[in-house]
Amino acid sequence: MSDVFNNELFEAFAKASDNVYIYVCDMKTNVSRWSWAAVEYFGLESEYLVDAGNVWAQYVHPDDLDTYMDDITGVFSGRKKFHHCQYRARNAEGTYIWIECKGSLIRDAEGNPVIFAGLMTRIDGQSKYDSLTGLLTAHDMHHFDFASLSGTALLLGIDGFRKIINGYGYNAGDEILIKFSRVISDLCHSGWKAMRFSGDEFLVLAFESTPQEVTDFYEELCRKIDTLKLDDERKVGISISAGGATFPQDADTREALINKLEHSLEYAKNNRRASIVFFSKKIAEKHERGLVLREDLKQCVKNSFKGFELFFQPFINPDSGSIAGCECLLRWKGEQIKDSYPMEFIKILEDYGDIQDVGFWVMEQAIMQQAAWCDRYGELHISFNVSYQQFIDDDFEKKAVSYVEKYGANPEYIIIELTESCQVESPKELAAMFVRLRKQGFKIALDDFGTAYASMEMLKWLPVDYIKVEHSFIRELAQPGHDIDYAIVDSLLEMCRRLGYNSIIEGVENSEVADIVGELNATLLQGYHYSHPVCRKDFEKLLDEDRKLSSGQC
Ligand code: C2E
Ligand code: CA
Repeated sequence: MSDVFNNELFEAFAKASDNVYIYVCDMKTNVSRWSWAAVEYFGLESEYLVDAGNVWAQYVHPDDLDTYMDDITGVFSGRKKFHHCQYRARNAEGTYIWIECKGSLIRDAEGNPVIFAGLMTRIDGQSKYDSLTGLLTAHDMHHFDFASLSGTALLLGIDGFRKIINGYGYNAGDEILIKFSRVISDLCHSGWKAMRFSGDEFLVLAFESTPQEVTDFYEELCRKIDTLKLDDERKVGISISAGGATFPQDADTREALINKLEHSLEYAKNNRRASIVFFSKKIAEKHERGLVLREDLKQCVKNSFKGFELFFQPFINPDSGSIAGCECLLRWKGEQIKDSYPMEFIKILEDYGDIQDVGFWVMEQAIMQQAAWCDRYGELHISFNVSYQQFIDDDFEKKAVSYVEKYGANPEYIIIELTESCQVESPKELAAMFVRLRKQGFKIALDDFGTAYASMEMLKWLPVDYIKVEHSFIRELAQPGHDIDYAIVDSLLEMCRRLGYNSIIEGVENSEVADIVGELNATLLQGYHYSHPVCRKDFEKLLDEDRKLSSGQC
């Protein structure tokens, strides 16, 4: 038995209290010892547990599992100094009770984990305060009977908080939460209640107040938070989304109110961000659609990608006017939902972890198509879209190479487009992956270039072959008052020339814009003016036409 457990100190602490439970884990053997009070209260199998992290996760309330896992992994990755969070755990009677869990990891001189020790305190039934911000926690909502009260509730969320932590660090994240909570408290009217709901979400119960009064509060909050500075004087650009609901009209129980607030906040974040949205029938329908979509998509993925299809939008060679290739764009018709557009279903695939599988399917179809068309039409540049989340999959490179071999495609004509360029968290790894893919012959494109704040910065460390100029700069080029768009596009293309990148101008919607961009010497052009994305058969018709024209048969 490990020395870690065989000491009187553990016994002494273990006996010290009946609503504090202690545990200590020998990280080398992954065996932990728990106080008898914990074994009895939670109905653990034994005083000694193997792989207690995973065993314990089964006792954590499913709604609190993310909070718990995030905190624990934060400690082991070094992101957090201590384990400290509150969540619900199931006791021996099967009832979930609130506990506060604190723990500390001791490492050896090489930084390897040696001991993880901690204690849990039961805080059920108490009105509890959030230890970081000092605000009440959402637990306090239990005290209100919303059927007999009246007012408006507001759920506030910091947009992209995870990215803020990644950019500024965990301590800055805590500082922001503390400062944000102070602003909320200062602005709350007398009689209102402010609570920390979870991570970066805060709840305000505005009793006897209308949605308009709450909207005024939200707008004032945004003004104040816009100028938030960290103690070290760094300014952090923060935006806040908010979901609102009235009680008792929209909801007369705690559960229903939370439910409607969460749906409204989700809607605000997904659709407009940095806005306030009140619960409505439309939001309820949208949420309902989201649930059906999720299920429908899952079934289709399981069912060998049934309902998924690639559409193709031509790339035009500006000198010859002929089709030089195409971008592959995903389409999907579910069993129940037939009218979902890519931005909607791709987001769900990303949020629920299916984008990897679907992405590999897209990759295989695109590569297969490149090889198949090569025999009939000569080499075509074929691109497909890949989000950062897909790129970091360990299998990405292996699969790309294996599909090229399987179908006998030429990787020199396969362009991999990196979408959502601003969310790159491990630039070094991504750059190394691009180097390896380019060595294999693949071409890399940065999609939507010019929109993301980080676009220019990315060029410094990412080796790429193509820049795709965002269509918002292009679409209205021919309309009066768009000189700035022209200047931006012109300079971007000049930059591509000087740095040796190929360029693709997308969003060419009409002949006036086509005339303007025709002068700019881009490598390839794309847009509704030439063709909308079309199914395989229609794209082959376009190719047949195009080849007839260029060989002078028409
Ligand atoms: P994107 O990569 O920027 O794709 C171009 C989008 O612009 C396509 O929309 C296309 O239909 C549209 N478009 C093309 N020409 C014009 C034009 O002249 N004017 C205007 N206003 N729009 C034009 P779509 O097909 O709805 O795709 C939307 C987004 O979905 C894509 O944006 C891409 O980010 C994503 N997407 C599509 N297929 C895939 C995929 O297989 N994997 C991943 N990860 N994302 C995909
Ligand atoms: Ca694209």
